[in-house]
Amino acid sequence: MNTEFFAAWIEEITSAVRAGRDHLTELDAAIGDADHGTNLDRGFTAVGEALAAAPPGTPGALLVLTGTTLIRKVGGASGPLYGTAFREMGKAFGEATEISPAELSAGVDAALAGVRRLGSAAEGDKTMVDALAPAAAALSRAVRDGLKPEEALEAAATAAAGGARATVPLQARKGRASYLGPRSVGHEDPGAASTALVFGALRAAASR
Ligand code: ADP
Ligand code: MG
Ligand code: MG
Repeated sequence: MNTEFFAAWIEEITSAVRAGRDHLTELDAAIGDADHGTNLDRGFTAVGEALAAAPPGTPGALLVLTGTTLIRKVGGASGPLYGTAFREMGKAFGEATEISPAELSAGVDAALAGVRRLGSAAEGDKTMVDALAPAAAALSRAVRDGLKPEEALEAAATAAAGGARATVPLQARKGRASYLGPRSVGHEDPGAASTALVFGALRAAASR
């Protein structure tokens, strides 16, 4: 997977976030402050502009610029968290021009570690970690089992979507939704839902 592949991933995320913007914002209206879809749409629009203005030469540089732009343009919880995720993945890739499935898996692990470090959410706290952690685990398992890259990305996308759906019955213990206590139960976490879009976009980039 080269720089072009990761640029395609960001494009796929941008269209998925645009198409899902109102849905993400409705999820956030139920247990937050109704801005998650607009936050991410604004952020990825800015990422597209930043990448077009100064096209990065490596996957690592592309993801670091993506993360930095998200931190700069998206406020609230999700900007720094997503920004850190993309920056950590980019840093894990270093100067490499071609990323293997095993390296991609290590990059997703680094993203998860960064999100955990910054937000200190555990699995089950009803956050984006509930989609990101199973996606990272599924990708790592798929790579270890020698699955084809497209199959590995399919497994990661399926795991992220399952993780997001599984946040519905949980009570939030981190972020704004935690202020609602038991009233956060019965709603899908918006950040977990957007993380599922991010992994769906990775699968879509691979089948372009
Ligand atoms: P804000 O809550 O500041 O308005 P967003 O609405 O854009 O920010 O993002 C909310 C999402 O951020 C939540 O649905 C959750 O997935 C994620 N989130 C919030 N706090 C944390 C945290 N401490 N760790 C991981 N994810 C978090
Ligand atoms: Mg919000
Ligand atoms: Mg907000």
